[in-house]
Amino acid sequence: MQCPKCESDDVLLCSTAYEQGKSVIKRKGKIEGGMDGGGRITADHESTETVLTEFAKRAAAPALTTNSLWYSLIGAVVAFFVVPSVWHDFTGHNPQWLYFLLLAAVAVAIYRLVTGYKKRRSEDDAQKAAWERSWICKRCGTIFEPAQKTPGVTPVE
Ligand SMILES: [Zn+2]
Repeated sequence: MQCPKCESDDVLLCSTAYEQGKSVIKRKGKIEGGMDGGGRITADHESTETVLTEFAKRAAAPALTTNSLWYSLIGAVVAFFVVPSVWHDFTGHNPQWLYFLLLAAVAVAIYRLVTGYKKRRSEDDAQKAAWERSWICKRCGTIFEPAQKTPGVTPVE
């Protein structure tokens, strides 16, 4: 395998490059803070963090577009539970149309998820498959797919 741009042999599969450049760091630390009375309070905390090298970020798989459909559904459901109580705090009552509106938002989000998921999913799958075939050049950072033996022929599912 050779980089089409700089002709270097030093190339890696993107997925390999990503795994190599990824490290999970466990941090142990103490949180310290002052209290109103002047005393100090400390607490232990542990966190894990995924750190990527710049190279691994470049080689990373494309983000999934189906996620945005889930986020809008979650957003609508959260709004359904949160908005009425906030509304009630300010106005003292909840009009019926507010529930209809929030329910409609949830319905729209479900509808979008149901109708759009399949299409987005297949787009995501195609992108992921392309990524799995892709190589990255360690010298110049070019991402490329190896030349196909039968160009112009798309496989039939
Ligand atoms: Zn190169």
